[in-house]
Amino acid sequence: MDCPEERKNRHELERAGAGHPLDQHDHSRILSRRKEGESRRIVHIGGVEIGGNGLVVIAGPCAVESSAQIRDTALFVASAGARVLRGGSFKARTSPYAFQGLGIEGVRMMREAADEAGLPMVTEILSEKDLPAMEPYVDAFQVGSRNMDNTALLKELGAVRKPVVLKRGFAATITEWLLAAEYILVGGNPNVILCERGIRTFSRDTRFTLDLAGAVLAHQRSSLPVIIDPSHATGKPDLVVPLAAAAVAAGLDGLMVEVHPHPSAALSDAEQALAPESFHEMMHRVAAVGEAVGRPVMKSVGLPTGPAAATGGSVSGT
Ligand code: PEP
Ligand code: MN
Repeated sequence: MDCPEERKNRHELERAGAGHPLDQHDHSRILSRRKEGESRRIVHIGGVEIGGNGLVVIAGPCAVESSAQIRDTALFVASAGARVLRGGSFKARTSPYAFQGLGIEGVRMMREAADEAGLPMVTEILSEKDLPAMEPYVDAFQVGSRNMDNTALLKELGAVRKPVVLKRGFAATITEWLLAAEYILVGGNPNVILCERGIRTFSRDTRFTLDLAGAVLAHQRSSLPVIIDPSHATGKPDLVVPLAAAAVAAGLDGLMVEVHPHPSAALSDAEQALAPESFHEMMHRVAAVGEAVGRPVMKSVGLPTGPAAATGGSVSGT
């Protein structure tokens, strides 16, 4: 049950944002709503189907650091079964003194790496000003947790047709998250994927708290695909694998995880990145759970052509 403050907040949002409550029966204007008897929405990143029967794993480093690092990681994750490459080049860091990313140059590096690995790619956009420069290179845009309610950015992403992975703000309710998606949908872009990445709670033992119930609720309330990012949700590689398995068991559509060839050397989120062997372990666990619940992990159709492919996807130094 929500508190009066939460209720007031939600009603205000609904009046301002969409005009109808999301959790009542009459919400016909809500575009993400799953209508009676309607099948779920499938969103394609490149040629990869998200929200269909198969589970999709999106993997890559927190940040693009160099062309060698993103290339090696792309080839490795493709060979281990990921279907989409992730990596940030415009980084939203808490500290202005932390590595801010390589900007558009890193996006170009990522495009090359993704092509070599035969994967489509998703990267974060921080500002609508970067959209024209980024669009020719990316297969999908990521909106980060800190930007979920940046309505200027959401409106611009509603005007393009490339898919948007919309991360949940770490202090956002499910209603607020779905209304953020609505900004993109109402602009005419139907290709939205929701990503739960942990919310802030009293717990300090994990980086954030994975709201698995909230993610399932968003999946039930909307027709949009919902994926889980257990890397940011936990901040701990040892928790990424079990929570990835839990998300699959809960019936969600896929995972986004951070993988680095040498986690301790990563320029951002070093403490949470999966090392290559842990990523392999995760893929095995997730495949087993996926089989058990009738959601097979979709295998990469990419055709890695580089040296990592020839050696079964080993990762060299960065
Ligand atoms: C990321 O995916 O690297 C990222 C910054 O995530 P979030 O916006 O969820 O913090
Ligand atoms: Mn990160």
